[in-house]
Amino acid sequence: MQNNCIYLDNNATTRVDPEVIEVMLPYLTDYYGNPSSMHTFGGQVGKAVRTAREQLAAMLGADESEIVYTSCGTEGDNAAIRAALLAQPEKRHIITTQVEHPAVLNVCKQLETQGYTVTYLSVNHQGQLDLDELEASLTGNTALVTIMYANNETGTIFPIEQIGLRVKEYGAIFHVDAVQAVGKIPLNMKTSTVDMLTLSGHKLHGPKGIGALYIRRGVRFRPFILGGHQERGRRAGTENVPAIIALGKAAELELLHLEEATTRERKLRDRLEQTLLATIPNCVVNGDVTQRLPNTTNIGFKYIEGEAILLLLNKYGICASSGSACTSGSLEPSHVLRAMGLPYTTLHGSIRFSLCRYTTEAEIDRVIEVMPSIVERLRALSPFKNDEAGWLQGQEQALAHR
Ligand SMILES: *Cc1c(COP(=O)(O)O)cnc(C)c1O
Repeated sequence: MQNNCIYLDNNATTRVDPEVIEVMLPYLTDYYGNPSSMHTFGGQVGKAVRTAREQLAAMLGADESEIVYTSCGTEGDNAAIRAALLAQPEKRHIITTQVEHPAVLNVCKQLETQGYTVTYLSVNHQGQLDLDELEASLTGNTALVTIMYANNETGTIFPIEQIGLRVKEYGAIFHVDAVQAVGKIPLNMKTSTVDMLTLSGHKLHGPKGIGALYIRRGVRFRPFILGGHQERGRRAGTENVPAIIALGKAAELELLHLEEATTRERKLRDRLEQTLLATIPNCVVNGDVTQRLPNTTNIGFKYIEGEAILLLLNKYGICASSGSACTSGSLEPSHVLRAMGLPYTTLHGSIRFSLCRYTTEAEIDRVIEVMPSIVERLRALSPFKNDEAGWLQGQEQALAHR
């Protein structure tokens, strides 16, 4: 097990905070009762679950009754989308964006085969939406608008409340995938236009296998999973008690650390980004640099492959990510960067570094130290080096030979 790596892949998953582990452990060992049981042994577990729900609600500025636990962010997205459609069977139109997480995009794609019409809003070169396009797409037939708060690949933040005001004019349900925003941006559901909001434990220093869906009081919700009456009949199945307790603690800690941690992360991120841009020729930042998560930078290193950069970083024990779905060996670049209309030269050589409150100055120094030579080495091997036309031709040939 490698556990001394420089972990800059926090948008993929995060380390569980030791305080979170400490509070959840007793619910795996001694307090294993069922929170729905009538006896005191189960009842005390039920009480702990209620406390955890209060902690999570407090972070969101929500009421406890508006929280439904799920198994992950993906389930939250699926449940919200299905529920919104079931609640308004007469409406057959959905609006989303081209840059959503697959947990939203793939549900929408399936719904298209089931008689729904889906509008996929485009983004500009900075990854931002055009609110006029949204306005023009909304109709009385629009059941649901599902748009992410912040993009997992670039960190670009969408103007959620401005979007929500427009959505409300048309009476559609507004769902927001806030998996990347929670814990990084202050949220207050009391003053928000959002009807449903998805979050996930493992993206905010909680464990994997737990998430939550915020459902505004008064929003008609039809459950996705049927069975017992847990979660007020909105999500059946015995509660994942240790993970729920953990998520409560994780939420409390996120709220506690939010301001100080994001200020620190932004400074480290900016130093990393500015130094790499100053020391490495032909690289660009992808995404909206003004409306952006404080922990994320996505940088395109022209003329080389992101996967090759990752492999070399990995040799130094540095974990980062490329936006592309290249794990299968295909040359298919990230759908997010493609939607932004980035040139071919940048599309393939883009790397995401995502920081967290555990990231240190020394770790950032190390990345700044090794990156220039990594890029130089790969560019030296690249037959086309700084020749854009030649590089393009090579990529096209590679694609043709697949
Ligand atoms: C990680 C992520 C998800 C999926 O959450 P899981 O808990 O891993 O299922 C959904 N949306 C976004 C934006 C994410 O980053």
